[in-house]
Amino acid sequence: MKVGITGGIGSGKTTVCKIFEALGIPVYYADTRAKWLMAHDPVLVAGIKQLIGTKAYFGDGGLNRAFIAEAIFGNNEKLQKLNHLVHPAVAEDSERWHNAQKGAPYTLKEAALFFESGNDKAMDKMITVFAPEALRIQRVVERDQSNPESVRARMDKQMPEEEKIRRSDYVIHNDGQHSLIHQVMDIHRELLRLSQHYATR
Ligand code: ATP
Repeated sequence: MKVGITGGIGSGKTTVCKIFEALGIPVYYADTRAKWLMAHDPVLVAGIKQLIGTKAYFGDGGLNRAFIAEAIFGNNEKLQKLNHLVHPAVAEDSERWHNAQKGAPYTLKEAALFFESGNDKAMDKMITVFAPEALRIQRVVERDQSNPESVRARMDKQMPEEEKIRRSDYVIHNDGQHSLIHQVMDIHRELLRLSQHYATR
Protein backbone atom coordinates (compact mmCIF):
# COMPACT_ATOMS: atom_id res chain seq x y z
CA MET A 1 0.00 0.00 0.00
CA LYS A 2 1.31 3.44 -0.96
CA VAL A 3 0.75 6.38 1.35
CA GLY A 4 1.59 9.97 0.42
CA ILE A 5 2.38 12.65 2.98
CA THR A 6 2.38 16.36 2.30
CA GLY A 7 1.90 19.74 3.96
CA GLY A 8 3.02 23.31 3.47
CA ILE A 9 6.56 24.53 4.00
CA GLY A 10 7.57 24.10 7.64
CA SER A 11 4.42 22.17 8.56
CA GLY A 12 6.55 19.34 9.96
CA LYS A 13 6.41 16.69 7.20
CA THR A 14 9.98 15.53 7.79
CA THR A 15 9.53 15.52 11.57
CA VAL A 16 6.41 13.34 11.21
CA CYS A 17 8.15 11.02 8.72
CA LYS A 18 10.95 10.43 11.23
CA ILE A 19 8.34 9.04 13.65
CA PHE A 20 6.97 6.71 10.96
CA GLU A 21 10.56 5.64 10.21
CA ALA A 22 11.06 4.86 13.90
CA LEU A 23 8.05 2.53 13.56
CA GLY A 24 9.85 0.71 10.74
CA ILE A 25 8.02 2.30 7.80
CA PRO A 26 10.24 3.09 4.79
CA VAL A 27 10.03 6.74 3.66
CA TYR A 28 10.83 8.12 0.19
CA TYR A 29 11.79 11.81 0.45
CA ALA A 30 10.73 12.96 -3.03
CA ASP A 31 12.26 16.45 -2.92
CA THR A 32 15.68 15.18 -1.84
CA ARG A 33 15.52 12.34 -4.33
CA ALA A 34 14.46 14.73 -7.13
CA LYS A 35 17.63 16.74 -6.61
CA TRP A 36 19.67 13.54 -6.78
CA LEU A 37 17.91 12.39 -9.96
CA MET A 38 18.41 15.80 -11.59
CA ALA A 39 22.15 15.23 -11.23
CA HIS A 40 22.34 11.47 -11.89
CA ASP A 41 19.52 10.26 -14.16
CA PRO A 42 21.02 10.44 -17.70
CA VAL A 43 17.68 10.97 -19.46
CA LEU A 44 16.70 13.72 -17.04
CA VAL A 45 20.12 15.36 -17.26
CA ALA A 46 19.87 15.44 -21.07
CA GLY A 47 16.37 16.92 -20.90
CA ILE A 48 17.43 19.62 -18.44
CA LYS A 49 20.47 20.55 -20.54
CA GLN A 50 18.22 20.89 -23.57
CA LEU A 51 15.71 23.04 -21.70
CA ILE A 52 17.99 25.23 -19.54
CA GLY A 53 21.39 24.90 -21.20
CA THR A 54 24.59 23.05 -20.40
CA LYS A 55 25.38 25.64 -17.70
CA ALA A 56 22.69 23.91 -15.59
CA TYR A 57 25.58 21.63 -14.56
CA PHE A 58 29.05 22.29 -13.19
CA GLY A 59 32.09 20.72 -14.83
CA ASP A 60 31.99 17.85 -12.32
CA GLY A 61 28.36 17.03 -13.20
CA GLY A 62 26.92 18.65 -10.07
CA LEU A 63 23.64 20.52 -10.36
CA ASN A 64 24.01 24.31 -10.68
CA ARG A 65 20.86 25.12 -8.72
CA ALA A 66 21.48 28.86 -8.72
CA PHE A 67 21.71 28.92 -12.54
CA ILE A 68 18.55 26.82 -12.88
CA ALA A 69 16.68 29.00 -10.38
CA GLU A 70 17.68 32.11 -12.31
CA ALA A 71 16.70 30.56 -15.66
CA ILE A 72 13.19 29.70 -14.47
CA PHE A 73 12.63 32.78 -12.28
CA GLY A 74 9.60 34.60 -13.69
CA ASN A 75 9.42 32.19 -16.63
CA ASN A 76 6.37 30.11 -15.90
CA GLU A 77 6.52 28.19 -19.16
CA LYS A 78 10.07 27.02 -18.47
CA LEU A 79 9.15 26.11 -14.90
CA GLN A 80 6.22 24.02 -16.17
CA LYS A 81 8.49 22.28 -18.67
CA LEU A 82 11.06 21.55 -15.98
CA ASN A 83 8.32 20.12 -13.76
CA HIS A 84 7.15 17.94 -16.66
CA LEU A 85 10.64 16.49 -16.88
CA VAL A 86 11.26 16.04 -13.16
CA HIS A 87 7.85 14.86 -11.88
CA PRO A 88 7.55 11.77 -14.13
CA ALA A 89 11.18 10.81 -13.37
CA VAL A 90 10.48 10.97 -9.63
CA ALA A 91 7.18 9.12 -10.06
CA GLU A 92 8.93 6.27 -11.89
CA ASP A 93 11.83 6.18 -9.43
CA SER A 94 9.51 6.13 -6.41
CA GLU A 95 7.43 3.34 -7.98
CA ARG A 96 10.57 1.23 -8.41
CA TRP A 97 11.61 2.05 -4.84
CA HIS A 98 8.15 1.13 -3.50
CA ASN A 99 8.21 -2.24 -5.28
CA ALA A 100 11.60 -3.01 -3.73
CA GLN A 101 10.28 -2.56 -0.13
CA LYS A 102 9.17 -6.16 0.08
CA GLY A 103 8.68 -6.64 3.81
CA ALA A 104 6.97 -3.33 4.57
CA PRO A 105 3.21 -3.27 5.28
CA TYR A 106 3.05 0.12 3.54
CA THR A 107 5.45 2.81 2.34
CA LEU A 108 5.39 6.57 2.75
CA LYS A 109 6.29 9.11 0.08
CA GLU A 110 6.91 12.63 1.32
CA ALA A 111 6.63 15.63 -1.02
CA ALA A 112 5.83 19.32 -0.60
CA LEU A 113 3.92 19.61 -3.89
CA PHE A 114 1.87 16.43 -3.99
CA PHE A 115 -1.55 17.56 -5.11
CA GLU A 116 -0.02 20.33 -7.24
CA SER A 117 1.92 17.72 -9.28
CA GLY A 118 -1.01 15.28 -9.49
CA ASN A 119 1.17 12.55 -7.96
CA ASP A 120 -1.44 11.97 -5.24
CA LYS A 121 -3.41 9.97 -7.83
CA ALA A 122 -0.78 7.21 -7.65
CA MET A 123 -1.26 6.87 -3.85
CA ASP A 124 -3.74 4.69 -1.97
CA LYS A 125 -4.02 7.13 0.95
CA MET A 126 -2.94 10.72 1.57
CA ILE A 127 -1.88 12.42 4.82
CA THR A 128 -1.58 16.19 5.29
CA VAL A 129 0.51 17.67 8.10
CA PHE A 130 -1.01 20.94 9.24
CA ALA A 131 0.42 23.75 11.36
CA PRO A 132 -0.75 27.36 11.70
CA GLU A 133 0.99 29.81 9.36
CA ALA A 134 2.66 31.91 12.06
CA LEU A 135 4.19 28.81 13.65
CA ARG A 136 5.41 27.50 10.29
CA ILE A 137 7.09 30.82 9.53
CA GLN A 138 8.70 30.91 12.96
CA ARG A 139 9.99 27.32 12.63
CA VAL A 140 11.40 27.78 9.11
CA VAL A 141 13.05 31.11 9.98
CA GLU A 142 14.76 29.37 12.90
CA ARG A 143 15.66 26.24 10.94
CA ASP A 144 17.02 27.96 7.79
CA GLN A 145 18.19 31.26 9.31
CA SER A 146 15.91 32.93 6.73
CA ASN A 147 13.40 35.77 6.99
CA PRO A 148 9.59 35.74 7.22
CA GLU A 149 9.15 37.46 3.82
CA SER A 150 11.00 34.75 1.88
CA VAL A 151 9.08 32.01 3.72
CA ARG A 152 5.78 33.77 2.90
CA ALA A 153 6.81 34.07 -0.76
CA ARG A 154 7.34 30.29 -0.90
CA MET A 155 4.03 29.68 0.88
CA ASP A 156 2.19 31.77 -1.70
CA LYS A 157 3.22 29.31 -4.43
CA GLN A 158 1.65 26.36 -2.60
CA MET A 159 -1.93 25.14 -2.56
CA PRO A 160 -3.95 26.45 0.45
CA GLU A 161 -3.77 24.11 3.45
CA GLU A 162 -7.58 23.74 3.65
CA GLU A 163 -7.60 22.35 0.11
CA LYS A 164 -4.86 19.81 0.94
CA ILE A 165 -6.79 18.72 4.03
CA ARG A 166 -10.00 18.41 2.02
CA ARG A 167 -8.26 16.10 -0.43
CA SER A 168 -6.55 13.97 2.25
CA ASP A 169 -7.64 10.86 4.12
CA TYR A 170 -5.83 11.89 7.33
CA VAL A 171 -4.64 15.13 8.88
CA ILE A 172 -1.92 15.47 11.51
CA HIS A 173 -2.10 18.65 13.60
CA ASN A 174 1.43 19.83 14.34
CA ASP A 175 0.46 22.95 16.24
CA GLY A 176 2.24 22.25 19.51
CA GLN A 177 -1.13 21.45 21.16
CA HIS A 178 -1.70 17.90 19.93
CA SER A 179 0.68 15.00 20.53
CA LEU A 180 2.41 14.10 17.26
CA ILE A 181 3.30 10.62 18.47
CA HIS A 182 -0.31 9.76 19.40
CA GLN A 183 -1.63 11.01 16.06
CA VAL A 184 1.03 9.08 14.10
CA MET A 185 0.33 5.93 16.15
CA ASP A 186 -3.43 6.16 15.44
CA ILE A 187 -2.86 6.51 11.69
CA HIS A 188 -0.16 3.83 11.71
CA ARG A 189 -2.54 1.35 13.37
CA GLU A 190 -5.27 2.15 10.87
CA LEU A 191 -2.84 1.79 7.94
CA LEU A 192 -1.57 -1.53 9.26
CA ARG A 193 -5.17 -2.74 9.41
CA LEU A 194 -5.90 -1.50 5.87
CA SER A 195 -2.65 -2.89 4.48
CA GLN A 196 -3.85 -6.42 5.28
CA HIS A 197 -6.67 -5.94 2.75
CA TYR A 198 -4.20 -4.65 0.17
CA ALA A 199 -1.93 -7.65 0.79
CA THR A 200 -4.76 -10.05 -0.03
CA ARG A 201 -6.04 -8.12 -3.08
P1 ATP B 1 9.90 21.84 4.48
O1 ATP B 1 8.61 21.92 3.73
O2 ATP B 1 10.59 23.14 4.53
O3 ATP B 1 10.76 20.70 4.05
P2 ATP B 1 8.81 20.30 6.69
O4 ATP B 1 7.34 20.33 6.48
O5 ATP B 1 9.52 19.02 6.35
O6 ATP B 1 9.52 21.53 6.02
P3 ATP B 1 10.16 20.11 9.24
O7 ATP B 1 11.52 20.34 8.67
O8 ATP B 1 9.80 18.76 9.73
O9 ATP B 1 9.03 20.62 8.22
O10 ATP B 1 9.88 21.15 10.42
C1 ATP B 1 10.24 22.52 10.30
C2 ATP B 1 11.06 22.93 11.53
O11 ATP B 1 10.18 22.94 12.64
C3 ATP B 1 12.19 21.97 11.87
O12 ATP B 1 13.28 22.70 12.37
C4 ATP B 1 11.58 21.09 12.96
O13 ATP B 1 12.57 20.59 13.84
C5 ATP B 1 10.64 22.06 13.67
N1 ATP B 1 9.44 21.37 14.20
C6 ATP B 1 8.58 20.61 13.50
N2 ATP B 1 7.60 20.15 14.30
C7 ATP B 1 7.86 20.63 15.54
C8 ATP B 1 7.21 20.51 16.81
N3 ATP B 1 6.09 19.81 16.97
N4 ATP B 1 7.78 21.15 17.86
C9 ATP B 1 8.91 21.86 17.71
N5 ATP B 1 9.56 22.03 16.54
C10 ATP B 1 9.05 21.42 15.47
